[in-house]
Amino acid sequence: MITRRQSTEIRLGNLTIGGSAPISVQSMTKTDTRNIPATIAQIKELEECGCEIIRLAIPDMEAASALKSIRPKVKIPIVADIHFDYRLALASLSAGVDGLRLNPGNIGDPERVKAVVKSAKEREIPIRIGVNAGSLPKDLPPELTIAQKMVKAAMGHIKILEGLDFGLIKVSLKAFDVPTTIEAYTQIASLIPYPLHVGITETGTPKTGLVRSAVGIGNLLYMGIGDTIRVSLTAPPHEEVFAAYEILKSLNLRQRGPILVSCPTCSRTEVDIVGIASRVQEALNKIDKPIRVAVMGCAVNGPGESKEADLGIACGKGQGLLFRKGEKIAVVPEDELVDALLREIASL
Ligand code: SF4
Repeated sequence: MITRRQSTEIRLGNLTIGGSAPISVQSMTKTDTRNIPATIAQIKELEECGCEIIRLAIPDMEAASALKSIRPKVKIPIVADIHFDYRLALASLSAGVDGLRLNPGNIGDPERVKAVVKSAKEREIPIRIGVNAGSLPKDLPPELTIAQKMVKAAMGHIKILEGLDFGLIKVSLKAFDVPTTIEAYTQIASLIPYPLHVGITETGTPKTGLVRSAVGIGNLLYMGIGDTIRVSLTAPPHEEVFAAYEILKSLNLRQRGPILVSCPTCSRTEVDIVGIASRVQEALNKIDKPIRVAVMGCAVNGPGESKEADLGIACGKGQGLLFRKGEKIAVVPEDELVDALLREIASL
């Protein structure tokens, strides 16, 4: 049983983050923000696969200005990712973004920070402080561990916002190294009340990145830490969203779409389980129903797992048993098994 850390609630557009709100899934566009049609198309694609918050890099004034055209065309909250230049933050706020990702300590001039915070406060727009292990300030005490430095850097940014009486704060502390990331989040979780955005950064291509993200994010979520998550992959962003939901589903924290239980096969298998499972997965990828489907290879574990699922097949030699809600409903020849299962899935 996971007991979530109680964080303060903030609103990001139409979404609640923190408190007892569901852990939300976010991603980042990989288009050039200045390319308005491409960016809108990518956000719409991400909305369809369940992305709930989208962050856009704002490298210059043209990108900030593009937000005016992008914001009205998409439904999910948009967060403008700003580094250093307060003018980009002000332009993004007036373009109607729902959130900023910005570290106030990097802006420099306190008057400029004040101007950004004043504008965010007037519009009730939250600011996410995002500290990355790879870009820590150079003046932190050298005796601190990387995780301690990350926390110290974040606390510095938080103090600036709190000093301006601004509390719509969300914080992330990301590193490539999983133990460092976990250490940093567990430390800051007890120091501040604000919601935490959790992720492992720069994890690489899907094969290794998924494992690294699942271990890091999964451990933190299991400890109750995390109000929003992003799986950072060197891959199209819809893969990040799919992976994020798989992590949340595996911890029973969110329900979205079907779950396929399939056996790894062994020498007891007398049918092509890999082929059957691939066809079933392909069909399940197209539906949203939160159902559990089992594809099992033999009579040892097959009937048990199939009975636990909404639908399941337990294969034998040349045929399989078809289960629906725990009840055996048919004995089906091997070459008709997948079609029979897909018909039942469609009828649920
Ligand atoms: Fe082997 Fe049966 Fe287990 Fe599949 S379900 S791995 S066939 S024992």
